[in-house]
Amino acid sequence: MAKIFIVDDVEDNIKLLWYNLEDDGHEVASAMSGQECLDKAPGFEPDVILLDMMMPGMSGIETLTALKALPAMDNIPVIMVSANDSDDSIIDALDQGAHDFISKPFIYPVLEARVRSAVRLKQSQEELEAANGRLAMLASTDSLTQCVNRRQFFELSGSEFAKAKRHAHPLSVIMLDADKFKAINDTYGHAMGDEALLRIADVARGCIRESDILARLGGEEFAICCPGSTVDGAIRIAERIREAIAKEVIECNGQTAQFTVSMGVTEYTGAEQAFDQLLNRADRLLYRAKEEGRNRVISGV
Ligand SMILES: [Mg+2]
Repeated sequence: MAKIFIVDDVEDNIKLLWYNLEDDGHEVASAMSGQECLDKAPGFEPDVILLDMMMPGMSGIETLTALKALPAMDNIPVIMVSANDSDDSIIDALDQGAHDFISKPFIYPVLEARVRSAVRLKQSQEELEAANGRLAMLASTDSLTQCVNRRQFFELSGSEFAKAKRHAHPLSVIMLDADKFKAINDTYGHAMGDEALLRIADVARGCIRESDILARLGGEEFAICCPGSTVDGAIRIAERIREAIAKEVIECNGQTAQFTVSMGVTEYTGAEQAFDQLLNRADRLLYRAKEEGRNRVISGV
């Protein structure tokens, strides 16, 4: 069952196709001119368009070209229907993006088979697009925490950095690292370490804004890019995360543990040429937070 849109200037032609296609379980809509097709087809969201070549006013080829220019319609297979089966008109239609061509008078079961073939093509294209979307998601996400990964973080933050630079908007960065993470793993096992990483991601998600970018850069290291935030705003976020983590109790295999995090926070000053410079500074501040006793936020510009 598919949604078929018929375009033909002769009402009897539409009726004949309409009844047959409906009998085969398809949902049908129609138009009697190219313009009517352009007006009605997008709203119907057809799987296939059967388009008459010979129509007064806007021709089938002109209608085809106009359909292919509409973003909502450019992937919909169009089967051209015409009594003129000269090679030139077939070539013309296919060159303009028609999926298939069928000559009048046609044998209905053949037409219906071609419709089904076009529907299958559209479905496999949609499945491919969905699979590509899933792959892109997997390639940009950390599988444990579902935060964005390092590669995606640099991509997204790099573009936020460019925007901040262009519009002279504030942008801040937080580098976060779990304290004594090796000891958690050594004492309780790696499953507890994973619990700690998951908890960091959950707590951080609850403290940041929609527009902030939370990433797991690797190991026990996270970063947050805060577009539009001054260092003071980012410090408030960091302190909320630090306090919340220190109160959390994580559990694994009947054991419980507590842990803390340290953070370095910095802001774009207008002098940095690249996002890396900002991240490196946040990393140095994080290192100082570790040196000064951990479970703390150190900021600077
Ligand atoms: Mg006609």
